[in-house]
Amino acid sequence: RRCVVAVDGPSGSGKSTVSRRLATALDARYLDTGAMYRAVTWAVLRSGVDPQDAEAVTKVAGETDLKIGVDPEASSVTADGIAIDRDIRGPEVTGAVSAVSAVPAVREQLVALQREIIEAAGRIVVEGRDIGSVVAPDADLKVYLTASAEARAHRRSAENSADLSATAADIARRDRLDSTRAADPLRQAPDAVVLDTTALGIDEVVARLHELLAG
Ligand code: C5P
Repeated sequence: RRCVVAVDGPSGSGKSTVSRRLATALDARYLDTGAMYRAVTWAVLRSGVDPQDAEAVTKVAGETDLKIGVDPEASSVTADGIAIDRDIRGPEVTGAVSAVSAVPAVREQLVALQREIIEAAGRIVVEGRDIGSVVAPDADLKVYLTASAEARAHRRSAENSADLSATAADIARRDRLDSTRAADPLRQAPDAVVLDTTALGIDEVVARLHELLAG
């Protein structure tokens, strides 16, 4: 049976872990839309284009053959046949992804691709920033995960074994960039269920989502 779950929220809100677990439990596919913006950013950096140059960024995005897997237990992202799963999590891509994802033509291209993937999958958990509001406004369940800035920085630095204060500064910078642009993708869908995960474990969040799906 068709079932689309939209999981939005900022970096470190727990959305990746929660979304993968939920997808596995539902025997559904899983789509990480942040990985798609990261993959285009990787291609932009590889081509030597300035991430702030919207026209050049649009051209690179259009010319890159992007493929993303939908298995919740094995991520796979390729650009022009090159496996970039690891590289897209690195500091270079993380530092430039907000600029690239602010380019309207890039968003249009990726949103169209995301909708095709959702349509083909039928049962899928999709995580990102604008899933409930833009990509899949007709989703069966829309959740918006939040957490305190401190909790998010702790989670991200533990995941990446990175320095806490540098991670906190990076998250604050991306929050600001992601939420002050014209088409604000951090805007939450008015009908999304907001879940503050600051004091919740992964299992508790996943259990709550199962309850919400059961209605
Ligand atoms: O979720 P993740 O940290 O991998 O997302 C990386 C970046 O991609 C975000 O900071 C944001 O700029 C962008 N993004 C977006 N829309 C989405 C998913 C991610 O603009 N649906």
